[in-house]
Amino acid sequence: MKVITSISDMQKEADLLRSRGKKIGFVPTMGYLHEGHLSLVREAKKRSDMVVMSIFVNPTQFGPDEDFDDYPRDFDRDAKIAESVGGDIVFYPDVREVFPENYLTYIEVQKITKVLCGLSRPTHFRGVTTIVSKLFNIVKPHLAVFGQKDAQQAFVIKRMVEDLNFDIEIVVAPIVREKDGLAMSSRNTYLTPEQRKQAIMLYQSLMTAKKLIDTGERNALVIKEQMRKIIEKQPDAMIDYIEIVDTTNLQPLMKLRGEILIALAVKIGKPRLIDNIIVHL
Ligand code: AMP
Repeated sequence: MKVITSISDMQKEADLLRSRGKKIGFVPTMGYLHEGHLSLVREAKKRSDMVVMSIFVNPTQFGPDEDFDDYPRDFDRDAKIAESVGGDIVFYPDVREVFPENYLTYIEVQKITKVLCGLSRPTHFRGVTTIVSKLFNIVKPHLAVFGQKDAQQAFVIKRMVEDLNFDIEIVVAPIVREKDGLAMSSRNTYLTPEQRKQAIMLYQSLMTAKKLIDTGERNALVIKEQMRKIIEKQPDAMIDYIEIVDTTNLQPLMKLRGEILIALAVKIGKPRLIDNIIVHL
């Protein structure tokens, strides 16, 4: 496995691979890799000849009071894990090269970035779309794999790719969970053992919502209320949002129909955790 740290070296490597007719699959991450990230690499491997994984903790997607400085980082560990799963190239740039002091350009998808996570993280998606666009120009992939874990992010990226005519196929891979249902996340490492137990309730509340829908409930308020009750029983839980939206536009639904996304964001102690399920009616 090759580790590339400079932008121009990565671009040259991408040009070389393309000139040889290789299909480049790309998995952008912020590192501190877990099985969720690795599932994306496996998905990319199935669909391409060479897999590039980027590891970059992107400062522009963190708000001023968020955990950028504390975000877990361990490049040596990540490089070993990436190699073990068959990653071909790890792109690991320096923040000063990606965002030099005189940096001025941002990409912004409107409207769908103002709901769900966008409400409490108003600059988050602008940071995500900016870094993903930059990485697309650097890695020059034919396809890129994102996780359903960050459902709104995947939705926003797809929209950006469509609106800006990026010639890149976007693949969204399912959420990888711990045995007890907790969605894997680099931020789970912040949880104390007691909070880790409480965190199981996030998935359980989503499963309760699914059961209610399966037994015929279609009123979003009733379902959200049940979910809220389950989560509020956890002493360290602070709900940011519990929402049920239409997957075509991310707008909240009152009466459930079509394909719906049930999504939540809850702070449990230090980390703010997100999770979701998609239900077809
Ligand atoms: P991150 O390093 O958290 O920015 O995540 C990098 C990519 O991995 C994103 O596309 C995430 O949606 C995806 N991802 C993170 N956690 C999971 C998970 N538990 N299952 C599937 N994909 C995930």
